[in-house]
Amino acid sequence: MNDSKEVQCAELILTEIMAHRRLPNGHERCAGATCPDCASKYLPKIISAVREQVPVTFVLPAFPAKSPNPEKVLGHLPDFAERLALRFLADLAQRIRSIYSRGVQFIICSDGRVFSDVVGMDDAHVSSYQEEFSALVKETGQGSITLVNLEDLFSGPCFDGMRAELMKRYGRSSRQLRQQVQNGAQASATQEEREANRMYRGITRFLFEDALHPLQTKTRSAIQKEVRERAYEVIRRSNAWSYLIAERFPKSVRLSIHPQICGSEKLGIRLVGEDCWMTPWHGVAVKTPRGFILMKHSEARALGAQLVFGDQERPSHFVLRNETLSPQIGA
Ligand SMILES: [Zn+2]
Repeated sequence: MNDSKEVQCAELILTEIMAHRRLPNGHERCAGATCPDCASKYLPKIISAVREQVPVTFVLPAFPAKSPNPEKVLGHLPDFAERLALRFLADLAQRIRSIYSRGVQFIICSDGRVFSDVVGMDDAHVSSYQEEFSALVKETGQGSITLVNLEDLFSGPCFDGMRAELMKRYGRSSRQLRQQVQNGAQASATQEEREANRMYRGITRFLFEDALHPLQTKTRSAIQKEVRERAYEVIRRSNAWSYLIAERFPKSVRLSIHPQICGSEKLGIRLVGEDCWMTPWHGVAVKTPRGFILMKHSEARALGAQLVFGDQERPSHFVLRNETLSPQIGA
Protein backbone atom coordinates (compact mmCIF):
# COMPACT_ATOMS: atom_id res chain seq x y z
CA MET A 1 0.00 0.00 0.00
CA ASN A 2 1.53 3.34 -0.93
CA ASP A 3 1.18 6.42 1.24
CA SER A 4 -1.88 7.99 -0.37
CA LYS A 5 -3.65 4.60 -0.44
CA GLU A 6 -2.97 4.25 3.29
CA VAL A 7 -4.47 7.68 3.98
CA GLN A 8 -7.49 6.87 1.82
CA CYS A 9 -7.97 3.59 3.65
CA ALA A 10 -7.76 5.35 7.04
CA GLU A 11 -10.32 7.92 5.88
CA LEU A 12 -12.71 5.17 4.86
CA ILE A 13 -12.33 3.52 8.29
CA LEU A 14 -13.03 6.83 10.02
CA THR A 15 -16.08 7.42 7.80
CA GLU A 16 -17.53 4.06 8.91
CA ILE A 17 -17.09 5.01 12.58
CA MET A 18 -18.31 8.58 12.10
CA ALA A 19 -21.59 7.32 10.60
CA HIS A 20 -22.55 6.40 14.18
CA ARG A 21 -21.25 9.49 15.82
CA ARG A 22 -23.03 11.31 18.66
CA LEU A 23 -22.77 15.09 18.49
CA PRO A 24 -24.28 17.60 20.90
CA ASN A 25 -26.88 20.01 19.49
CA GLY A 26 -25.23 22.78 17.52
CA HIS A 27 -22.37 20.64 16.21
CA GLU A 28 -24.21 19.14 13.23
CA ARG A 29 -21.67 20.62 10.81
CA CYS A 30 -19.22 17.97 12.07
CA ALA A 31 -21.38 15.11 10.78
CA GLY A 32 -19.46 12.82 8.42
CA ALA A 33 -15.70 12.47 8.45
CA THR A 34 -14.87 15.70 6.65
CA CYS A 35 -14.58 18.24 9.49
CA PRO A 36 -10.80 18.88 9.62
CA ASP A 37 -10.86 19.82 13.33
CA CYS A 38 -12.44 16.48 14.20
CA ALA A 39 -10.55 14.30 11.71
CA SER A 40 -7.17 15.70 12.87
CA LYS A 41 -7.79 14.16 16.31
CA TYR A 42 -8.48 10.62 15.11
CA LEU A 43 -7.04 10.19 11.63
CA PRO A 44 -3.28 10.24 12.50
CA LYS A 45 -3.69 7.22 14.83
CA ILE A 46 -5.68 5.33 12.22
CA ILE A 47 -3.12 6.16 9.51
CA SER A 48 -0.28 4.92 11.78
CA ALA A 49 -2.00 1.59 12.36
CA VAL A 50 -2.68 1.17 8.63
CA ARG A 51 0.97 1.96 7.83
CA GLU A 52 2.13 -0.58 10.39
CA GLN A 53 -0.43 -3.06 9.03
CA VAL A 54 -1.87 -3.78 12.49
CA PRO A 55 -5.50 -3.62 13.68
CA VAL A 56 -6.76 -0.09 14.39
CA THR A 57 -7.63 0.01 18.09
CA PHE A 58 -10.39 1.99 19.79
CA VAL A 59 -10.81 2.29 23.56
CA LEU A 60 -14.27 2.74 25.04
CA PRO A 61 -14.88 3.24 28.76
CA ALA A 62 -18.35 1.73 29.13
CA PHE A 63 -20.45 -1.20 30.44
CA PRO A 64 -19.82 -0.54 34.16
CA ALA A 65 -22.70 -2.67 35.56
CA LYS A 66 -26.47 -2.22 35.55
CA SER A 67 -28.00 0.85 37.15
CA PRO A 68 -29.16 -0.02 40.69
CA ASN A 69 -32.61 1.45 39.90
CA PRO A 70 -35.19 -1.29 39.03
CA GLU A 71 -37.38 1.39 37.38
CA LYS A 72 -34.73 1.67 34.69
CA VAL A 73 -33.39 -1.87 34.15
CA LEU A 74 -34.50 -5.50 34.36
CA GLY A 75 -31.92 -6.63 36.90
CA HIS A 76 -28.23 -6.50 37.69
CA LEU A 77 -27.04 -8.88 34.94
CA PRO A 78 -26.45 -8.13 31.24
CA ASP A 79 -29.50 -8.71 29.03
CA PHE A 80 -30.49 -8.21 25.42
CA ALA A 81 -29.53 -4.52 25.58
CA GLU A 82 -25.85 -5.41 26.07
CA ARG A 83 -26.11 -8.07 23.37
CA LEU A 84 -27.42 -5.49 20.87
CA ALA A 85 -24.57 -3.07 21.65
CA LEU A 86 -21.93 -5.80 21.23
CA ARG A 87 -23.52 -6.99 17.99
CA PHE A 88 -23.37 -3.42 16.74
CA LEU A 89 -19.62 -3.18 17.45
CA ALA A 90 -18.97 -6.62 15.92
CA ASP A 91 -20.93 -5.68 12.76
CA LEU A 92 -19.05 -2.39 12.52
CA ALA A 93 -15.74 -4.29 12.82
CA GLN A 94 -16.92 -6.71 10.12
CA ARG A 95 -17.72 -3.83 7.73
CA ILE A 96 -14.30 -2.27 8.38
CA ARG A 97 -12.59 -5.61 7.68
CA SER A 98 -13.95 -5.43 4.13
CA ILE A 99 -12.08 -2.09 3.74
CA TYR A 100 -8.96 -2.98 5.75
CA SER A 101 -8.08 -6.66 6.14
CA ARG A 102 -6.28 -6.19 9.51
CA GLY A 103 -9.53 -4.84 10.86
CA VAL A 104 -10.18 -3.05 14.14
CA GLN A 105 -10.16 -3.97 17.79
CA PHE A 106 -12.61 -2.39 20.24
CA ILE A 107 -11.18 -2.40 23.76
CA ILE A 108 -14.01 -1.93 26.25
CA CYS A 109 -12.59 -0.52 29.50
CA SER A 110 -15.34 -1.34 31.94
CA ASP A 111 -15.50 1.41 34.55
CA GLY A 112 -18.00 -0.08 37.01
CA ARG A 113 -15.34 -1.02 39.51
CA VAL A 114 -13.85 2.47 39.28
CA PHE A 115 -16.88 4.23 40.80
CA SER A 116 -19.24 1.48 42.03
CA ASP A 117 -18.96 2.60 45.67
CA VAL A 118 -19.89 6.19 44.74
CA VAL A 119 -22.92 5.35 42.60
CA GLY A 120 -24.40 2.76 44.96
CA MET A 121 -23.49 -0.36 42.96
CA ASP A 122 -22.61 -3.45 44.89
CA ASP A 123 -19.09 -4.79 44.05
CA ALA A 124 -20.58 -8.30 43.94
CA HIS A 125 -23.10 -7.10 41.31
CA VAL A 126 -20.25 -5.51 39.35
CA SER A 127 -18.42 -8.88 39.46
CA SER A 128 -21.40 -10.94 38.30
CA TYR A 129 -22.21 -8.38 35.59
CA GLN A 130 -18.59 -8.47 34.36
CA GLU A 131 -18.44 -12.25 34.38
CA GLU A 132 -21.54 -12.59 32.18
CA PHE A 133 -20.56 -9.62 30.04
CA SER A 134 -17.16 -11.16 29.39
CA ALA A 135 -18.82 -14.38 28.17
CA LEU A 136 -21.12 -12.32 25.96
CA VAL A 137 -18.11 -10.48 24.48
CA LYS A 138 -16.53 -13.85 23.56
CA GLU A 139 -19.78 -15.13 22.07
CA THR A 140 -20.74 -11.99 20.13
CA GLY A 141 -17.49 -10.11 19.50
CA GLN A 142 -16.14 -12.26 16.60
CA GLY A 143 -12.63 -11.64 17.94
CA SER A 144 -12.86 -7.88 17.46
CA ILE A 145 -13.85 -6.86 21.02
CA THR A 146 -11.76 -7.21 24.18
CA LEU A 147 -12.66 -6.32 27.75
CA VAL A 148 -10.46 -4.66 30.37
CA ASN A 149 -11.33 -4.12 34.04
CA LEU A 150 -9.74 -2.26 36.96
CA GLU A 151 -8.46 -5.59 38.32
CA ASP A 152 -6.71 -6.31 34.98
CA LEU A 153 -4.62 -3.16 35.41
CA PHE A 154 -4.13 -3.15 39.20
CA SER A 155 -3.37 -5.96 41.58
CA GLY A 156 -4.19 -6.00 45.25
CA PRO A 157 -6.16 -7.85 47.90
CA CYS A 158 -9.34 -5.72 47.60
CA PHE A 159 -11.21 -3.45 45.21
CA ASP A 160 -11.12 -0.50 47.62
CA GLY A 161 -7.32 -0.72 47.59
CA MET A 162 -7.24 -0.75 43.77
CA ARG A 163 -9.52 2.30 43.63
CA ALA A 164 -7.31 4.09 46.16
CA GLU A 165 -4.23 3.26 44.08
CA LEU A 166 -5.92 4.50 40.91
CA MET A 167 -6.79 7.82 42.58
CA LYS A 168 -3.36 8.16 44.14
CA ARG A 169 -1.68 7.80 40.78
CA TYR A 170 -4.16 9.41 38.40
CA GLY A 171 -6.64 11.45 40.49
CA ARG A 172 -6.76 15.24 40.16
CA SER A 173 -7.81 17.79 42.76
CA SER A 174 -11.48 18.11 43.62
CA ARG A 175 -11.13 21.88 44.14
CA GLN A 176 -9.92 22.42 40.60
CA LEU A 177 -12.80 20.35 39.20
CA ARG A 178 -15.40 22.29 41.24
CA GLN A 179 -14.00 25.57 39.98
CA GLN A 180 -14.10 24.34 36.41
CA VAL A 181 -17.74 23.21 36.73
CA GLN A 182 -18.77 26.51 38.34
CA ASN A 183 -16.97 28.55 35.70
CA GLY A 184 -18.73 26.45 33.06
CA ALA A 185 -22.05 28.09 33.95
CA GLN A 186 -20.71 31.61 33.23
CA ALA A 187 -21.06 33.37 29.88
CA SER A 188 -17.27 33.82 29.72
CA ALA A 189 -16.60 30.07 30.14
CA THR A 190 -14.04 28.29 27.99
CA GLN A 191 -15.11 25.30 25.92
CA GLU A 192 -13.45 22.96 28.44
CA GLU A 193 -15.29 24.56 31.36
CA ARG A 194 -18.62 24.36 29.53
CA GLU A 195 -17.94 20.67 28.88
CA ALA A 196 -17.13 20.04 32.54
CA ASN A 197 -20.39 21.75 33.53
CA ARG A 198 -22.39 19.72 30.99
CA MET A 199 -20.85 16.47 32.23
CA TYR A 200 -21.56 17.43 35.85
CA ARG A 201 -25.22 18.16 35.12
CA GLY A 202 -25.60 14.91 33.16
CA ILE A 203 -24.08 12.79 35.93
CA THR A 204 -26.13 14.59 38.61
CA ARG A 205 -29.30 13.76 36.64
CA PHE A 206 -28.34 10.06 36.32
CA LEU A 207 -27.44 9.79 40.01
CA PHE A 208 -30.68 11.52 41.00
CA GLU A 209 -32.78 9.17 38.86
CA ASP A 210 -30.94 6.13 40.23
CA ALA A 211 -31.46 7.31 43.81
CA LEU A 212 -35.23 7.74 43.33
CA HIS A 213 -36.10 4.05 43.58
CA PRO A 214 -39.21 3.05 45.56
CA LEU A 215 -37.24 1.62 48.51
CA GLN A 216 -35.44 4.80 49.50
CA THR A 217 -36.83 7.06 52.23
CA LYS A 218 -34.97 10.38 51.90
CA THR A 219 -36.62 13.59 50.67
CA ARG A 220 -36.02 14.76 47.09
CA SER A 221 -34.03 17.78 48.28
CA ALA A 222 -31.81 15.64 50.56
CA ILE A 223 -31.14 13.31 47.60
CA GLN A 224 -30.44 16.28 45.34
CA LYS A 225 -27.88 17.66 47.77
CA GLU A 226 -26.18 14.28 48.17
CA VAL A 227 -25.96 13.53 44.44
CA ARG A 228 -24.39 16.94 43.70
CA GLU A 229 -21.50 15.96 45.96
CA ARG A 230 -21.27 12.42 44.60
CA ALA A 231 -21.24 13.69 41.00
CA TYR A 232 -17.91 15.43 41.62
CA GLU A 233 -16.37 12.20 42.87
CA VAL A 234 -17.77 10.19 39.91
CA ILE A 235 -16.14 12.67 37.52
CA ARG A 236 -12.81 12.57 39.41
CA ARG A 237 -12.82 8.76 39.27
CA SER A 238 -13.83 8.63 35.65
CA ASN A 239 -11.19 11.22 34.71
CA ALA A 240 -8.54 9.18 36.56
CA TRP A 241 -9.67 6.10 34.59
CA SER A 242 -9.39 8.14 31.37
CA TYR A 243 -5.81 9.21 32.18
CA LEU A 244 -4.86 5.61 32.92
CA ILE A 245 -6.44 4.38 29.67
CA ALA A 246 -4.69 7.09 27.65
CA GLU A 247 -1.37 6.03 29.20
CA ARG A 248 -1.92 2.31 28.65
CA PHE A 249 -3.34 2.61 25.14
CA PRO A 250 -1.54 5.61 23.60
CA LYS A 251 -2.07 4.42 20.02
CA SER A 252 -5.83 3.91 20.36
CA VAL A 253 -8.58 6.28 19.30
CA ARG A 254 -10.66 7.17 22.35
CA LEU A 255 -14.41 6.57 21.97
CA SER A 256 -17.14 7.76 24.31
CA ILE A 257 -20.80 6.92 24.74
CA HIS A 258 -21.52 10.61 25.43
CA PRO A 259 -21.95 13.21 22.67
CA GLN A 260 -18.65 15.01 22.07
CA ILE A 261 -18.08 18.48 20.72
CA CYS A 262 -16.12 19.41 17.58
CA GLY A 263 -12.40 18.73 17.92
CA SER A 264 -12.73 16.66 21.10
CA GLU A 265 -10.09 13.99 21.79
CA LYS A 266 -13.03 11.64 22.37
CA LEU A 267 -15.27 10.48 19.59
CA GLY A 268 -18.89 10.11 20.75
CA ILE A 269 -20.58 6.98 19.39
CA ARG A 270 -24.09 5.47 19.57
CA LEU A 271 -24.29 1.81 20.43
CA VAL A 272 -28.00 1.05 19.95
CA GLY A 273 -30.55 2.79 17.70
CA GLU A 274 -29.89 5.77 15.50
CA ASP A 275 -31.33 8.47 17.74
CA CYS A 276 -31.18 6.83 21.11
CA TRP A 277 -29.10 8.48 23.82
CA MET A 278 -29.71 5.86 26.45
CA THR A 279 -27.12 3.22 27.35
CA PRO A 280 -27.74 -0.54 27.69
CA TRP A 281 -26.96 -0.35 31.40
CA HIS A 282 -29.44 2.46 32.11
CA GLY A 283 -32.36 0.93 30.23
CA VAL A 284 -34.02 -2.07 28.60
CA ALA A 285 -34.11 -3.15 24.94
CA VAL A 286 -37.51 -2.78 23.27
CA LYS A 287 -38.26 -4.31 19.87
CA THR A 288 -40.52 -1.97 17.90
CA PRO A 289 -41.74 -2.14 14.28
CA ARG A 290 -38.95 0.38 13.56
CA GLY A 291 -36.23 -1.76 15.14
CA PHE A 292 -34.74 -1.97 18.59
CA ILE A 293 -34.54 1.02 20.88
CA LEU A 294 -33.63 1.48 24.54
CA MET A 295 -35.85 3.05 27.16
CA LYS A 296 -36.42 2.92 30.89
CA HIS A 297 -38.00 -0.25 32.24
CA SER A 298 -40.90 1.79 33.67
CA GLU A 299 -41.53 3.43 30.27
CA ALA A 300 -41.65 0.05 28.50
CA ARG A 301 -44.24 -1.17 31.01
CA ALA A 302 -46.28 2.04 30.76
CA LEU A 303 -46.46 1.57 26.96
CA GLY A 304 -47.82 -1.95 27.44
CA ALA A 305 -44.74 -3.66 25.93
CA GLN A 306 -44.55 -7.42 26.45
CA LEU A 307 -41.66 -8.89 28.41
CA VAL A 308 -39.66 -11.62 26.62
CA PHE A 309 -37.67 -14.20 28.57
CA GLY A 310 -34.33 -15.59 27.43
CA ASP A 311 -32.05 -18.40 28.61
CA GLN A 312 -32.81 -19.83 32.04
CA GLU A 313 -36.16 -18.00 31.96
CA ARG A 314 -34.42 -14.72 32.66
CA PRO A 315 -36.06 -11.44 31.55
CA SER A 316 -34.34 -10.41 28.29
CA HIS A 317 -36.16 -7.52 26.57
CA PHE A 318 -39.58 -6.14 25.60
CA VAL A 319 -41.65 -6.25 22.43
CA LEU A 320 -43.93 -3.37 21.49
CA ARG A 321 -46.41 -4.54 18.89
CA ASN A 322 -48.26 -1.32 18.11
CA GLU A 323 -46.25 1.68 17.12
CA THR A 324 -47.40 4.15 19.73
CA LEU A 325 -44.05 5.79 20.39
CA SER A 326 -43.69 9.50 20.23
CA PRO A 327 -40.35 10.53 18.66
CA GLN A 328 -39.12 11.74 22.06
CA ILE A 329 -39.29 8.40 23.83
CA GLY A 330 -35.94 6.71 23.89
CA ALA A 331 -34.48 9.55 21.84
ZN1 LIG B 1 -15.75 19.10 13.93
